[in-house]
Amino acid sequence: MSARPSGRIVEGSSVDRDLSLDADACVIGSGAGGAVVARALAEAGMKIVVLEEGPYVSSREFVSDEGESRLRLYRDGGFRGNADGSLVLLEGRCVGGSTVVGLGTAIPAPGEVLDHWARSSGVADLAPAGLADRFARIAREISVAPVPDTMINPNNALLRRGAARLRLSSDVLARAVRGCAGCGRCAEGCPTDAKRSMLVSYVPKALRAGATLYADARADAVLFSGGAVRGVRAAILERATRRRKCSLDVRAPVIVVAAGAIESPSLLLRSHVPDRSGLLGKKLRVNPSVPVIGTFDSPIRGYRGIPQSVWSAQFADLRAGKGGYTIEGGFAGPATFGSTLPGYGVAHKRILSRYNRMALVSVVLQDRSAGEVRVGRGATVEIRYEPRKEDRAKLLEGVRRAALLLFRAGAHEVFAGPRTNAILADEMDLVHLDRPEFRRIALRMTATRPQGTCRMGADPSRSVIDPRGEFHGIKGLFVADASVFPGPLGVPPQMTVMALAARAAEAIAASAGARRSPA
Ligand SMILES: Cc1cc2nc3c(=O)[nH]c(=O)nc-3n(C[C@H](O)[C@H](O)[C@H](O)COP(=O)(O)OP(=O)(O)OC[C@H]3O[C@@H](n4cnc5c(N)ncnc54)[C@H](O)[C@@H]3O)c2cc1C
Ligand code: SF4
Repeated sequence: MSARPSGRIVEGSSVDRDLSLDADACVIGSGAGGAVVARALAEAGMKIVVLEEGPYVSSREFVSDEGESRLRLYRDGGFRGNADGSLVLLEGRCVGGSTVVGLGTAIPAPGEVLDHWARSSGVADLAPAGLADRFARIAREISVAPVPDTMINPNNALLRRGAARLRLSSDVLARAVRGCAGCGRCAEGCPTDAKRSMLVSYVPKALRAGATLYADARADAVLFSGGAVRGVRAAILERATRRRKCSLDVRAPVIVVAAGAIESPSLLLRSHVPDRSGLLGKKLRVNPSVPVIGTFDSPIRGYRGIPQSVWSAQFADLRAGKGGYTIEGGFAGPATFGSTLPGYGVAHKRILSRYNRMALVSVVLQDRSAGEVRVGRGATVEIRYEPRKEDRAKLLEGVRRAALLLFRAGAHEVFAGPRTNAILADEMDLVHLDRPEFRRIALRMTATRPQGTCRMGADPSRSVIDPRGEFHGIKGLFVADASVFPGPLGVPPQMTVMALAARAAEAIAASAGARRSPA
């Protein structure tokens, strides 16, 4: 193995010439999947280079301004969408990936989902017993614990109250935090490092173990020949303009693609890897969500406190990938919030002036519809996603239920489904949601959980990567992020991504003959 480098972050601004590097393994992406693999392999004694397209932004630089933090921390400033514009897809693009802008909710994959995955993919150790220890270890490392009752903010308390009045179950969620002050800024990056994102947990551990992370470094192609991977061709980007500044080539016998469920398949498609299953980029699930907003008499100030601490999973039917939905607490800054409200100009302004008194819950679908990631002309990424009829019906059922829940919690008007002007004045108005024209109107959906585009499986004709995480047919090419899910998950995915990445790291270290086994 090559000599170990001293671990550090190299930012694009400090590179002014073309670089060519050698490593035992190159990890592409530093989010939930990439950071876990980089840390495990570095601690196993391997020389690791991590390439991260986004910038390195330390918590001291996080700002509460939604617009500015979107531009700095999110892909396309948070404006990436599907081809028909009905879906906004939010992804982190910075050192630490989407975990930097995540809400901190930390839930292991439910047993029934894992059982289904194990059966349908032919990968027996995806069953709950195979992952239990990994989930427990990750939970310890990122300090997962239920939100204390005293920290549940009024927005989430309303969800709990409405659920109780409807006799629906609701649960307090667990989060990965240490000393959370409840400032409400999770989606703009935690300014106090309380949230145990990859930026403050696994990335520093990978660096301490000797990994070198290049920020502002975009992988453009995976290089392979003779059935084995050879390296990565990448570009160092100008931080401000994101234009190419220098080239960066990494030669390594192991490449781990962990660029997230949209960018990983895009990169592999652009690299023209031989996709024997024809499934690369396909089977895209996003768990789309639709916000439902209620106005109350007294102030709620949902932007204060922990954004997400309660959900109702009563209608989540996670067995055998059957689908269902959760109703989840959550909130947004005024700009994002405003974009989900109906109306234009003065009418819109009048509605938004009630921001302080509004509560927001989201209906999040465990989708059965499958979309696709394609690479178009000029290597542009195209996301095709449209919920099938039965998924639309489920989403609308969820919207109806969430609206009723808000009325029972005391709302005196409810905005249900943003592309409509469906302002419901009371429970009687819920019948409007059953009108055919409402069912035809495109729902505007938001998603933060893309997954499934490089699915894992034992059968190369029905999956993209093998049970160890290696690409079918290319030795040394691994995938370790949310794209490997063999089916829809239906709960917040970060812990599951991390557990599967830890599993892949073990396989990589074993096949590379690492000095030590990963922790
Ligand atoms: C706003 C928001 C809130 C969320 N809240 C939660 C939550 O509370 N709980 C939860 O469990 N999940 C949450 N999620 C989802 C969770 O963060 C993701 O499911 C998880 O981080 C996915 O891990 P990943 O490794 O697949 O991708 P990511 O964590 O997104 O990491 C991918 C990384 O790869 C980099 N990259 C992409 N292309 C390239 C390239 N060509 N070269 C180099 N680098 C590249 C990206 O910049 C990014 O940093 C949230 C997501 C968002 C966006
Ligand atoms: S609420 Fe504030 S302190 Fe708590 S995790 Fe979120 S950003 Fe950090």
